[in-house]
Order: sequence, then C-alpha cells, then structure tokens
Amino acid sequence: MFTANGDYANLKGNYLFYEVGKRARAYAEAHPDAELIRMGIGDVTQPLVPAVISAMHRAVDEMSRAETFHGYAPDFGYEFLREAIHKRDYVSRGIDVSQDEIFVSDGAKCDVGNFQELFSRSCRIAVLDPVYPVYVDTNVMAGRTGTNDGGRYAGLVYLTCDASNGFVPGPEAAEGADIVYLCYPNNPTGAVATKEQLQKWVDWANDRKSLILFDAAYEAFIRTPGIPHSIYEIPGARECAVEFRSFSKTAGFTGTRCAYAVVPTSVRAWMPDGSPADLRAMWTRRHTTKFNGVSYPVQRAAEAVYSPEGQAQTRALVDGYLANAAIIRERLAACGLRCIGGDNSPYIWVATGGVDSWSFFDRLLREAQVVTTPGSGFGRCGEGHIRISAFNRSDRVIEAMDRIEKVLK
Ligand code: PLP
Repeated sequence: MFTANGDYANLKGNYLFYEVGKRARAYAEAHPDAELIRMGIGDVTQPLVPAVISAMHRAVDEMSRAETFHGYAPDFGYEFLREAIHKRDYVSRGIDVSQDEIFVSDGAKCDVGNFQELFSRSCRIAVLDPVYPVYVDTNVMAGRTGTNDGGRYAGLVYLTCDASNGFVPGPEAAEGADIVYLCYPNNPTGAVATKEQLQKWVDWANDRKSLILFDAAYEAFIRTPGIPHSIYEIPGARECAVEFRSFSKTAGFTGTRCAYAVVPTSVRAWMPDGSPADLRAMWTRRHTTKFNGVSYPVQRAAEAVYSPEGQAQTRALVDGYLANAAIIRERLAACGLRCIGGDNSPYIWVATGGVDSWSFFDRLLREAQVVTTPGSGFGRCGEGHIRISAFNRSDRVIEAMDRIEKVLK
C-alpha cells in the first residue's frame, strides 16, 4: 500500500495570501469602479535593466548556433558567474569566501527549503516570529515539528521580534535550538541586524555546535554604513553559518530565477554518531543529484548584474524602491503610526495602534482601497501589525499614501 508523508498533515493551510486575495477580490467585485492599489506583494514591479536584457539576448543568440550552443550547465554554475559573485559580493568587501564554496541555483526559496534535507530529523529548529513561512513549512514537511494548535508548531523554538528588542532577538531566546534561521534585512519586518548582534549569534552557534542559516535575499537594500551585508563579515561565521542570496530582489529576477548559496568548507557539522560531517560535500552531493542547473541565458543575465552598467542600473532600481519605502514610512509616521523597516529594506512594518491586523487590513481595503498584508499571517508576534511593500510605481505609492492619510488623519 502506498502511504503518503504523514507530516504534511501537520501543515496549516497557506492561508495568508489566499485570504488577502480573496478579500481583495470580493471587494473589487462588490465595487467595480474602485481602483485597488496593491501594497502587499513581495514581488518586484520594474522590468529587468538594459545591461541584463542585452546579455540575455546575446546568450539566447549563442544558443541558436551549433558552435556556441550550451547544454547542461556545470553543476555549481558557470565559472564566469561564480567568479563575478566571488569578486563583487565577497572579495570587494574583504570577505573570506572562496569560489568553490558558491553554488548557483534557481532561487533562495528552493535553497532554503532544500537545505534542511541535510539535517537529522531530531534537530531542533529556531525561527524568528514573525517569520518568512518557508523556514517553518519545510521543516514541518520533514517531520521536525508536531502539530499546530493555536498558531504555533510544537517542537519549534519561536524567537519573539518586537519593539522591546528592536525586532532583532538575541540568542538567549534560542535555548535548546540546534539550527536557527536568521533573515536580515528581514522579511516581513524590514529590520536589520548590526555586527554586534550577529556576533552574539555566531558566538552562540560556535559554543553550542549549532548552525546558522542566514538568508540575505534583501542584502542589496542595505544603505546604512556598517550594517553587515554578509554573515561572513562576522568573525567565526565560516565555522557555523550557511548563507543564501538571490538576484530576485537585487536585480528583478523573480520571474527569471537565479540565486546562490554559500557553504564554507570550514562549517562544522556532526553525524548522529558524533563524527564530523562535511556539510559542503553533502550539499554538493544533494545539488548534483537533484538539481540540473540554471539555464545559460539566465546565468549570463546574472553575470551582467555585476558589470559596471549592470551595477549602476540595478542600484538605481533598488534606489527607486527605497525612495518609495521612505515615502511610505514618512507619510505613515505623519499619520501617527509607528513604523520600522523601509530604510534598508523594501518592507515597512507598521504597528496598527492596538487594532488587530485583519481589522486594520479590512479598514484600509474598504476605506482607502489599498491592499496590505496583515502581520498576524507571519506569526503570532505579527499580530497588531501590517506589512507594506515598496515594490510599486512611485505614483501609485503616493496615491496610496494620499488615500491612507485621508482615512487616518
Ligand atoms: N528569502 C526571503 C526572505 C524572501 O522574502 C524571498 C522572497 O520573497 C525569498 C527568499 C525567495 O527568493 P527567490 O525568489 O530567490 O526564491
């Protein structure tokens, strides 16, 4: 008899974006003349930059000729891309990462989700609350949690992110965890972690023989000098951390798909019998067995992000989103709402002043025709907040803020 993975039965439905979509659709159907502005989405809105498009076109042309055609890509990504990543994202910042520790992939979501295959089933997982749901759900699927009664999975360690800790919890809350998922700049709160804060996590992980999974998908939004762009800026991180990066938000690749993971050769890990495990070798094995590479035109497109034109053009793209974020934050603060994020992140995390997340969401939908994301959908500690995204055209952002101001002032 075929039996399915019973751990899937523990998963709570993917309720958040389904419910947001349902409520927005219902409102639009009941009010056909209303023009909704969607400020909830985590997807980019601007097209790929010219340097990327020309590189992709050239690569597509190469695929049309026998002499320049490319079949399967090398397992870890083409050398030209890994070299560019290595030089620009690490060497230029004085960070000690070698090229053979970089694994090109088709998305940080897939990498983050797949990486947990390397953990034993008994590992205890810690996540931030509110949290990017992929960290949680992939571990539920793998049987590392119990059921979810009352909004939290049994067996997970939830790290409260709130105003009392500046939305950056320290390791003292992670008692008993073997693995922690950290994400900075954070989705959904937009918070960033300082070197000192990350150092505490690295020291904790090295002391406890734990592992840090550092999701830096929003690294390109960091503008404040001194905020680390990579976990490997922190002494000791090469022994205890894996890093995930993506071209999705950096360069508008959400529909193009390219990302990479860094797994240092020096990262310490142990087999269930206590003998040393080689995590990089294990990831190599997993990657080469289950993944067949990112297409040549996409890797050429990603390489072009690192060209001088690509760097200038993608920085301008991100600057545009950050300008939107600054407008959102300033205008909402002027309405008396407490906000964080938006300065080094495309997300603004807005306290709803004692109103529950869904009621505030409904009010903005009904009275301002603006769609946001209720914070409670990201975890218990997200209650009393909404997330607003800066991924939009600036005229739409201004229009949304004008409408919200009329409702709240
Ligand atoms: N990590 C975080 C924190 C994200 O918010 C997202 C996308 O929203 C991803 C990873 C997914 O990145 P990718 O598009 O590379 O799969």
